[in-house]
Amino acid sequence: MIKYYGHSAFELHVDGYKILIDPWISNPLSQEKAAQVKDVDLIIVTHGHGDHVGDVATIARNNPRARIVAIYELAEHLGRLIGDPARAVGGNIGGPMKIEGVSLKIALTPAVHSSPYGAPTGVVIAGRELTFYHAGDTSVMMDMKLIGEIYRPQIAMLPIGGHFTMDPVEAAKAVELLSPRVVVPMHYATFPVLYGRPEELEALVKQRGLPVKVRAMRPGEVADPRDML
Ligand SMILES: [Zn+2]
Repeated sequence: MIKYYGHSAFELHVDGYKILIDPWISNPLSQEKAAQVKDVDLIIVTHGHGDHVGDVATIARNNPRARIVAIYELAEHLGRLIGDPARAVGGNIGGPMKIEGVSLKIALTPAVHSSPYGAPTGVVIAGRELTFYHAGDTSVMMDMKLIGEIYRPQIAMLPIGGHFTMDPVEAAKAVELLSPRVVVPMHYATFPVLYGRPEELEALVKQRGLPVKVRAMRPGEVADPRDML
């Protein structure tokens, strides 16, 4: 299952784990309340900007089992923020992290961006059947070729809004480098400054002749990722 909350916030259910990524549930596009999010196993935060850390404190409070996964310095910060450092799992960019009791492969990837705590990242989540890539906030970068080659994500969540991240022009090149089967656009339309739109990305990947589906999700929408392929 994949659910989009708007902005860069997603919920994934992979091999029985409920995962939130960049859980700014109370973003302007969302009708949902962070307090209603329950039974979370992992909260992954790609970098330390407020629109990605989002409602981590509220969700961590309401989900005492949930662990927070992030780059080391951000995990330390978030552990202090929730008043429970033991629940923050800090790793770094490279091979998949060892997370106690979790069979998924979760690897932090580079991102070309900034962050107040450690380096900004993206994340790859590989389950038995499906592999997801959430790029975090980033520009296009040649590393996407490596991410595509090593992890072969079928579903890529890519920022397209511009100004702070790629817009559809850069994102179309990112799609070429990553070769996913499906792109779910994110980080657009939340504010007027995030001007990129999924239809522009769709036209640009067609121009490049890429065999990929651009699958825009409405905030609050839930889908079965297998149906997207
Ligand atoms: Zn950011």
